[in-house]
Amino acid sequence: MDGSRTPQTPPVLILLGPPGAGKGTQARMLEDRFGLVQLSTGDLLRAAVASGSEAGRAAKAVMEAGDLVSDDIVIAILRDRLAAPDCTNGVILDGFPRTTTQAEALDVMLAESGQQIDAAILLEVDDAKMVTRIAGRFTCGACGEGYHDTFKAPKVADTCDSCGAQQMTRRADDNAETVASRLEAYHAQTAPLITYYADKGALRRVDAMGEIAEIQQAIAALTESAMQ
Ligand code: AMP
Repeated sequence: MDGSRTPQTPPVLILLGPPGAGKGTQARMLEDRFGLVQLSTGDLLRAAVASGSEAGRAAKAVMEAGDLVSDDIVIAILRDRLAAPDCTNGVILDGFPRTTTQAEALDVMLAESGQQIDAAILLEVDDAKMVTRIAGRFTCGACGEGYHDTFKAPKVADTCDSCGAQQMTRRADDNAETVASRLEAYHAQTAPLITYYADKGALRRVDAMGEIAEIQQAIAALTESAMQ
């Protein structure tokens, strides 16, 4: 990777970081600001579980335990989603890849359409604080806006600031026990990707412990330069 990109190909960004680092929040910002499409394998898997599909049935117990779903299932789900027409605007990958096998499969998928990773943005956080961050978070079930009991409460209790719906939902795996397993899985299986992308010259680091707006600014600046 020489730092320049082929302008005809849609941008591909990855958000890396442990559970609770803010990947989903930041991916939504990148969607709004740059017209990129957020691809969250966690969201795709939760939809598969809700639909009762074969992949969903296989993934359910694994997700509840805070372990990683098998590479085969996740790669197949991501491959399908990446082929959808809206992805031609460029994508921001949130929660994928999570293993070296997934990262290598992604490189192959992208190469098939003449694309490559423009940047892997690592959200650097203090692990010890992630349990509190995750345990307090919830989402508007209607529009997907994210909230937190302490850090980002809605202006009116139980009502979404963005769309006004009263459908707040909390994830089943956002409890202290499962979060501990998810952090363990991150360090054992996903953290090696930091070196993987550093070796390709694609890694960008962001201090993700501060204010959401400041982190957004830093990520937006990195995204702008990666898209040039
Ligand atoms: P997330 O919404 O990204 O926190 O993901 C929730 C759960 O879905 C994880 O704890 C894993 O069980 C599963 N999952 C999501 N993305 C992946 C992936 N790329 N590889 C394996 N498992 C995944």
